Amino acid sequence: MSDRRIINRNYTCRFCGTIRRAPADYVPGAPPTPRCCGQPMQLLSYEQTVAATQLSEVARKAWLDAGGDVAKRGGKHHWKAVW
Ligand SMILES: [Zn+2]
Repeated sequence: MSDRRIINRNYTCRFCGTIRRAPADYVPGAPPTPRCCGQPMQLLSYEQTVAATQLSEVARKAWLDAGGDVAKRGGKHHWKAVW
């Protein structure tokens, strides 16, 4: 029985704003970083994932271009995109 765990992480494409779940590429033996628009997708932190899913693809792309910062806020979704 294998003890290798598949850890899914969220990736985004900074060119089109797509979000995709894929196995973490830092785990030994994992598949390579998913690609979109001909480029490797950007790995999102948990906080960035919460913030990014609240944005439209157009807004997400602008936010990623600006650095993808997040800030902790109150309410149901604690992490908000800031730029
Ligand atoms: Zn793309």
